[in-house]
Amino acid sequence: MGLELKKEAINAAVSNLQLRTKAFINGKSVNSVSGETFATVNPANGKTFAEIASCDEKDVELAVKAARKSFESGCWSKMPPAERKKIIFKFCDLMEEHEAELALLDCLDAGKPIFDCVTIDAPETIECIRWHAEAGDKLLDTISPTGSSNLSLIVREPMGVVGIIVPWNFPAQMTAWKIGPALATGNSIILKPAKLTSLSAILMAELAAEAGIPDGVFNVLPGPGSTVGKALGMHMNVNMVAFTGSTEVGRTLLGYSSQSNLKRIILELGGKSPQVVMADADLDITAENAVSAAFWNMGENCSCGSRLIVHKSVKDELVKKMVKILKTWPVGDPLDPDTRFGPMVEEPHMEKVLSYIEAGKAEGAELVMGGNRVLEETGGYFIEPTIFDECNNKMKIAAEEIFGPVLSVIPFETEEEAVAIANDTEYGLASSLYTRNVNAAHRIARAIRAGTVSVNCFSEGDMGAPFGGFKESGFFGRDKSIYAHYQYTEMKAIWMNLED
Ligand code: NAD
Repeated sequence: MGLELKKEAINAAVSNLQLRTKAFINGKSVNSVSGETFATVNPANGKTFAEIASCDEKDVELAVKAARKSFESGCWSKMPPAERKKIIFKFCDLMEEHEAELALLDCLDAGKPIFDCVTIDAPETIECIRWHAEAGDKLLDTISPTGSSNLSLIVREPMGVVGIIVPWNFPAQMTAWKIGPALATGNSIILKPAKLTSLSAILMAELAAEAGIPDGVFNVLPGPGSTVGKALGMHMNVNMVAFTGSTEVGRTLLGYSSQSNLKRIILELGGKSPQVVMADADLDITAENAVSAAFWNMGENCSCGSRLIVHKSVKDELVKKMVKILKTWPVGDPLDPDTRFGPMVEEPHMEKVLSYIEAGKAEGAELVMGGNRVLEETGGYFIEPTIFDECNNKMKIAAEEIFGPVLSVIPFETEEEAVAIANDTEYGLASSLYTRNVNAAHRIARAIRAGTVSVNCFSEGDMGAPFGGFKESGFFGRDKSIYAHYQYTEMKAIWMNLED
């Protein structure tokens, strides 16, 4: 059941919340082998609200054994896809029954506004997993053309034991983007949530078991990346790791693979996404979308449009419109249904974002709005939405991923210049483009080196549209869409001689 966006309903749901804090291995909720726990803190007030099982290499060993056993038994991997679909649908129905809980957990753990968790994160998590389950029995294998004395089958088979490592910014949704296709294609999975946001992942595993996903198929190991994540990456009996997170850790995972069993690694990484605004753009539409691109989820968004590359002739008017819109985005308690802007996820991250703001000032960018920590008395880690004008791509704030609410506005004069600035980055995850000229839209969309270009909007498209990055924003990875299914499967050629 969804959560009513009223203060009383939200407060009642918080007081009824029963937190599930254990690891989930082989169909059971368990303490970590060491018995250790770690604290999870609400970033809106800085207070610990749960102690969570802290796993390490020993728990990874148990989970890999359970996952391998379930995979080899065929209880899931060899189940007809239509049967798997029914069970995953049941899992989605259970998530729907627990939708309020799913929304609240990400709100408390990550400081995401409850409005977003209720209207976007929780429903889209469920929709994503349903979409992949539905697709699971629709993908056809192929037969390649041969002479009549041969039969050439090209079939896809699940990868095996798949490690899934996700970040904290969209805890349930990033999990869904991975577990949806991984489960639908018959793999056994070991999910490592970000240490800051483990609770929704644990809930999902428990509901999956209740729905009938067999023991060992869906395991969750909360804990640090440097132990659990590393042990998954280095394990000789893990066939693949699907990762979403920073480019730095993604690079490390490729190293683990090369040092161990050459497991398949797919990476969805960071970004410094451009928003290109041409002189003929509709500035009202652009302002609405550009604000969302830069500041939705407090800028803690991999596809955050953190560089506004805007034609000189419309820059001042656009920035004015954006400031006006941002002033209607209340900053505050994420549990308040009116809040559109919550805290940074943790204190060190807040400090990092503040240090970028100082760098922007020092480099001579013009501070137009924000720039400060606010609501300090709450104990939370709030920063105002911040806009710097008159930036250039050489500035630290315009070149590096900040992962916070800091927008760099960069003026341009010609289309060539705009494209060159947009592409002058090691990243290539997402981008937006605003123009009323359809020819220019086509031309510039093709010229921008990024996995997604959204035109006259800020969007990653629906579930049918693939999502992933060019350059250092990704490696072999596409989440969402039918293409996600291919990466969780191996391709096999079966060549049959039919001669008597
Ligand atoms: P992070 O890379 O620090 O952590 C991501 C995950 O990796 C966490 O679960 C963490 O515990 C784990 N990890 C850390 N060290 C590890 C190691 N040595 N071995 C294995 N696992 C390890 O990223 P974050 O701070 O959680 O998230 C922010 C980053 O994620 C940003 O760069 C953002 O752009 C990126 N991101 C990308 C996408 C996308 O789809 N491309 C989506 C969301 C976030």
